[in-house]
Amino acid sequence: MATSIHIESVTKEFRTLGNTHVAVDDLTLDIPEGSFTTFVGPSGCGKTTTLRMLAGLETPTSGSIQFGETDVTDLPPQERNVSMVFQSIALYPHMSVRENIGYGLKIHGVSKAERDERIDEAAEVLQIEEQLEKMPAELSGGQQQRVALGGAFVQDPDVLLLDEPMSDLDAKLKSDLRVEIQRLHQELDTTVVYVTHDQTEAMTMSDRVVLLREGELAQVDPPKQLFDYPNSDYVAQFIGMPSTNVIDCAVETESGVTTLRGPDISVPLPDDVPSVPSDVVRLGIRPQYVDVGDAGEHAFTLDVEVIETLGTESVVHGRLADGTTFDVVSSNVDGVAAGEQLAVSFDFADVFIFDETGETICF
Ligand code: ATP
Repeated sequence: MATSIHIESVTKEFRTLGNTHVAVDDLTLDIPEGSFTTFVGPSGCGKTTTLRMLAGLETPTSGSIQFGETDVTDLPPQERNVSMVFQSIALYPHMSVRENIGYGLKIHGVSKAERDERIDEAAEVLQIEEQLEKMPAELSGGQQQRVALGGAFVQDPDVLLLDEPMSDLDAKLKSDLRVEIQRLHQELDTTVVYVTHDQTEAMTMSDRVVLLREGELAQVDPPKQLFDYPNSDYVAQFIGMPSTNVIDCAVETESGVTTLRGPDISVPLPDDVPSVPSDVVRLGIRPQYVDVGDAGEHAFTLDVEVIETLGTESVVHGRLADGTTFDVVSSNVDGVAAGEQLAVSFDFADVFIFDETGETICF
């Protein structure tokens, strides 16, 4: 039965050679029952440590973890009804795929008939029915990872913990497996907590995304909310590809009109925008919301450095006059070449404004 998870003021410190490193810093978070929640963030931000504390493989230095009404902070892994799948695939080489998937059930005393039924069901969803009687060495990396996932799912855990299970797979396999993991989640009554540094996985698979920064919670929200309403420049720049463009601007007020002045742009604030409390701000604009041409409200030219063609659209990597990098995603750059100048523009409705500390003051 899926369970809700409550993480209350959890801190995890590691002590090595007299140094103390805070891997997770006063994290408080609710994970709803049956949800698919993804922890994302750069390397070292504390994702795996948090997952290992949920699994019972690490104990918090302070704070508590509850599954439903039960305090599990000090419970060992085997008393939590959790399954975990890691990045490195851990299959038993001398057992067939069927035996590997069913092993956890077998040691819990589940009958052969019931084991086979659950294994066949998982194999169908994961599309490895043909591989059930093979040995792990006969499978590709993607198939092996499916077997590991199958072994976790058949145990019908309250909580399924997945730590970068796709990071060793190629792009095509990843996109197939993304869909299959979601299918498994729909079939089963389990709460999934997924860890990745790949924001595409986070954005496409999850009900909610938890973005960490140096052990602290940066923001938790559904993917679209995180994309549209980042609470800081850190979130705006981590979520979305390519990264949100950020331009340092001076704030000038003259005759009652406040204007943000950047290297090539001058953006008067509309009346309905809250007042800006500092002399400098950072203006954020997503590359997807910049148009090629000067039809938008604020136009300027870009020194084009590199163009990447993605198929239907291209990414133009350029720079502003002061050297600030600035990217544009457009399907309208045929004939534009590196070394040239490109006229681009944007509308005020699409910008974020961040204060000196990086906090968002206007979406
Ligand atoms: P990655 O994406 O690289 O796996 P992560 O976000 O999962 O990173 P963690 O593995 O949770 O990060 O590590 C968080 C911090 O805690 C890192 O600085 C790491 O070096 C440190 N850390 C993790 N485990 C230990 C340990 N057993 N002993 C000492 N320091 C540790």
